[in-house]
Amino acid sequence: MSTPTPLLQVEDLKKHFAVPSGPFRPRNWLRAVDGVSFDIARGETLSLVGESGCGKSTVGRTILRLLPPTSGRLTLDGQRIDTLPQSQMRLLRKRMQVVFQDPFSSLNPRMTVRGILADPMINFGLVRSRAEIDARVATLLDKVRLPADAARRYPHEFSGGQRQRISIARALAPGADLIVCDEAVSALDVSVKAQIVNLLSDLQAELGLALLFISHDLAIVEHMTHRVAVMYLGKIVEIADRRTLFSRPRHPYTRALLSAVPVPDPKAKRQRIVLTGDVPSPLNPPSGCAFHTRCPYAFDRCRVEGPALRPRASGQLAACHLDDLPPV
Ligand code: SF4
Repeated sequence: MSTPTPLLQVEDLKKHFAVPSGPFRPRNWLRAVDGVSFDIARGETLSLVGESGCGKSTVGRTILRLLPPTSGRLTLDGQRIDTLPQSQMRLLRKRMQVVFQDPFSSLNPRMTVRGILADPMINFGLVRSRAEIDARVATLLDKVRLPADAARRYPHEFSGGQRQRISIARALAPGADLIVCDEAVSALDVSVKAQIVNLLSDLQAELGLALLFISHDLAIVEHMTHRVAVMYLGKIVEIADRRTLFSRPRHPYTRALLSAVPVPDPKAKRQRIVLTGDVPSPLNPPSGCAFHTRCPYAFDRCRVEGPALRPRASGQLAACHLDDLPPV
């Protein structure tokens, strides 16, 4: 599933970790990300969702080259970045920034907000004078809707939501056009979550940002994303535009995740599908379809043959042998 002018292209990305298994035994491989492909256009949000441990954060960190990819191809604005040495990658980092989950630990407590925002501008050589720094810091604070006097205060003087605004301003400071939001609102209260999501949407509309929004919370994703990719055990099992995914999921795992999302209208209650069993270990994934140990519709073929991610009539790509799901 491709977008017209992708800013970021991810092709068959793999990130495997070697796990020691003891003397005289072959090394085990943890396949955290195992052949993931998608792209994101300017001004678009793609949400990467799935349970904890499915590999979604590893995808984000590998795209940012905080982790070296095992294989695959990463392209930013037409330039291949998976093979770039770290020295050249450093220059590109100003275009790819991250907002992490925990605004309490991701901001340096000894720096004022001015210092935190000035740091990337200075590191990337974007400013020439104190006056220029002050002007840019004031503009950034205004963009994230913090008062101008926030510049001389320290992170501990702010609430969680305000700190996340500072993290977003820091991501914007070097002029990023792709921001990876790694569970960026997960630690916040519901009302604060909505404020931060609205802020991100407004900034996206104003600046044409591409957002990779990594989250386990489909209720939040439903209100802010353009497309959704669902991950299970290191692979994308379904990818679709928001409306299609939420109205006509074609993968049993997506359907189960959606069944847990609360609906505002009590009469339109979704029937909850409770998955039995734990997520299998990516060190020893099940044969065939990795979801077969928990899938309510699994049949013999599922245990021996892994399904390909293939297009469906309703528009999405889904990795399931079934052409359509049985009614709930
Ligand atoms: Fe379930 Fe089989 Fe589809 Fe896998 S391929 S999701 S086990 S029905």
